[in-house]
Amino acid sequence: MGLLNASRRAVGAARCCPSPLSTPKSWLSIKTALPGDKNILLMGPPGAGKTTVGRIVAHKLGLPVVDVDDDVLETTWKMPVAAKLASVGGKRFLEEEGQALRNFSASGCVVSLTGSNPLHAEAMRHVKESGLVVYLDVDGEDIVRRLAAMEVNRIVGQEEGVPVRDILLHRKRFYEKWLDVRVLCGTGDTAEEVAEKVLKAVERYQNHDEETYVSTRCDGAAPPHRKTYFGDVVVEGLAADGGLYVPKNGFPKMDAREWLRLVAMSYPERALVLLEKCIHPLDVSALDLRTMVFNAYGSNFSSEAVAPVRHLVRNQYVQELFHGPTASFKDLALQLMPQLFAHCLPPMCNYLVLVATSGDTGSAVLSGFGRLSGADRHRTGVLVFFPEEGVSEIQRLQMTSYTEDNARAVGVLSDFDFCQRSIKRMFGESGLTGHLAVEYGTVLSTANSINWARLLPQVVYHSSAYLDLCRDGVIEFGEPIDVCIPTGNFGNAMSALYAKQMGVPIRKVICASNHNRVVADFFATGEYDLRGRPLKPSRSPAIDILKSSNLERFIHHVSDGDGRLVGDLFARLDGQQRFRVPEPLLGRIRQEALAGWCSEDDCLAAIRGVRAQTGYVMDTHTAVAKVVADGLQDGSCPAVLCATAHCGKFAPAVFKALQIQNIPEDPVEQLEKLELAAPRPEMHTEMMKRLKESGRRRQAVCQADYGVLVEEVESMIHDSFLKVM
Ligand SMILES: *Cc1c(COP(=O)(O)O)cnc(C)c1O
Repeated sequence: MGLLNASRRAVGAARCCPSPLSTPKSWLSIKTALPGDKNILLMGPPGAGKTTVGRIVAHKLGLPVVDVDDDVLETTWKMPVAAKLASVGGKRFLEEEGQALRNFSASGCVVSLTGSNPLHAEAMRHVKESGLVVYLDVDGEDIVRRLAAMEVNRIVGQEEGVPVRDILLHRKRFYEKWLDVRVLCGTGDTAEEVAEKVLKAVERYQNHDEETYVSTRCDGAAPPHRKTYFGDVVVEGLAADGGLYVPKNGFPKMDAREWLRLVAMSYPERALVLLEKCIHPLDVSALDLRTMVFNAYGSNFSSEAVAPVRHLVRNQYVQELFHGPTASFKDLALQLMPQLFAHCLPPMCNYLVLVATSGDTGSAVLSGFGRLSGADRHRTGVLVFFPEEGVSEIQRLQMTSYTEDNARAVGVLSDFDFCQRSIKRMFGESGLTGHLAVEYGTVLSTANSINWARLLPQVVYHSSAYLDLCRDGVIEFGEPIDVCIPTGNFGNAMSALYAKQMGVPIRKVICASNHNRVVADFFATGEYDLRGRPLKPSRSPAIDILKSSNLERFIHHVSDGDGRLVGDLFARLDGQQRFRVPEPLLGRIRQEALAGWCSEDDCLAAIRGVRAQTGYVMDTHTAVAKVVADGLQDGSCPAVLCATAHCGKFAPAVFKALQIQNIPEDPVEQLEKLELAAPRPEMHTEMMKRLKESGRRRQAVCQADYGVLVEEVESMIHDSFLKVM
């Protein structure tokens, strides 16, 4: 806690507005086994192996070991701990145990805490100041087994008749409050293995500099002159050279035993463990992350499972990614991203988030940022540009239903690419950004799907789909699955590729396009060619995209981080509207992913066919994935189709598919009619409620003119921030 606060203060002082982040110096040097004066504190339930692991760790580092039970409590009390517990009772025991710990001081040691120490807040604050708290997170069932084997039949705080399982569950909250780093112990891990993990975790904690980010266009031969941390990446969005940020050292990999631990966990628990692995604790502490994650994936989702997987037909499953407040998969990222964003903002500046959307992003961003509270909300504005003709009536109503004063949506008489291009151009114009900084103390940022804090949360649901299939007995851990994704900006697909890098056994990521098939053609030919390809409107408008921005990250990945090549290719795309990747690279691309496309007729036919066969009604994007999976997937392993929107969101097209006549004009009436025609999935009540509240308001529409969009930005800043400053 102290360290983190110090680091955030340093950040603030050093940078308003952007300049390099400063970070705390490491205080413990594993390499030289010189711990400075800090302790390594092992925390966890009884039976977690704190004492044994502590001895091994201490031995490896050449440090003294302190066991709180033996070396602090028994020497203080001059009697065995069990005798003390028997003589004074649980409550008094905890208090006396806490007092003893408060009077304890040590430095440069490996300290094994007792299982009940974390229940005493004052004592924990005291010891936490002396070092790093490492939580040995052992599965509750393993603990129960071990305690039985050790013939321990009673633990501190266990009253008559309360099962050990419940006590452990209660304790877990305290462990998760005090931890600095988690060591996820697998069933069957030996003490040696856990000790190794502890060393790795401590080393990771000190080596914050190893978890920096680089631009996809960064030339390895000329490394960047400053280090870019998670917070910089989230706040800046795009890298200064126009590339996208990626972790310099790739993704952390988890072993099978660690993954198996996640099988029994809830969605937010899985999210927390995975995100802790991907975000350094000095960027976001485990406790802060926990608060954000549980806030993001709670009752705001209409399904408690958050992203449930359902069987569709044969070997095909759908992962329902539409239970968030705005009924598209974008909520999975955008219920969390604004919290991460606000956390990373340096104080003093205002931030205006600019978003280009072809529909679903708009409402998801407005919902996500609209849930911010307090000061965060006052200095963070959101301006959404959407193609006036490119969104459905329902999407428009959803966007205009948000009336937070720091959030606006503006329709543009052009297409999505124009909106996105204009925003990119604003970021690139130092005249404009300088003016906004000087005049209004305001920095422009983005929440587009290129933002790292949007991609990262999506890794969780791809992992979660796999874990659900394991939990439900469809597969054993280690068996492959394919994932089929309706693909626009390639963010969802990229997240699946990242989940694979973390160790999820995904065989192929199958990218599905509609008749705007530039990605499918690219996979077929190796040439990404925008020439002579006007954007063709479709019934799956969220994937009506020509420039799939996140593809740049994929090419960076398959080229082993060849920034020069990536920079070259994408400069060519800007200049000549096309690029071709070298043949070996195309081979690597095809190893990881497949791509196909689906006609408008096939999309509608699939909706009708699946509904006839199963009673389940897919939205048009999910149907695109279904058609492409039918064509490309060989059936030799399960295929998970990403259901990226609720069918109600694209009701008119779904009616057409189901050949339902006499469609009402009013979107709310449409949903009511659809509910009767679609037994599954359940109607999205939050979407329905929003539409009812929203009514029909006209919102601002502006010309396809860069200058006009800039004016909108200025007037938004003027309105929301001038009065705040
Ligand atoms: C945004 C969106 C997509 C495309 O996702 P990308 O990450 O941009 O590829 C697909 N389907 C729906 C319903 C969407 O809202």
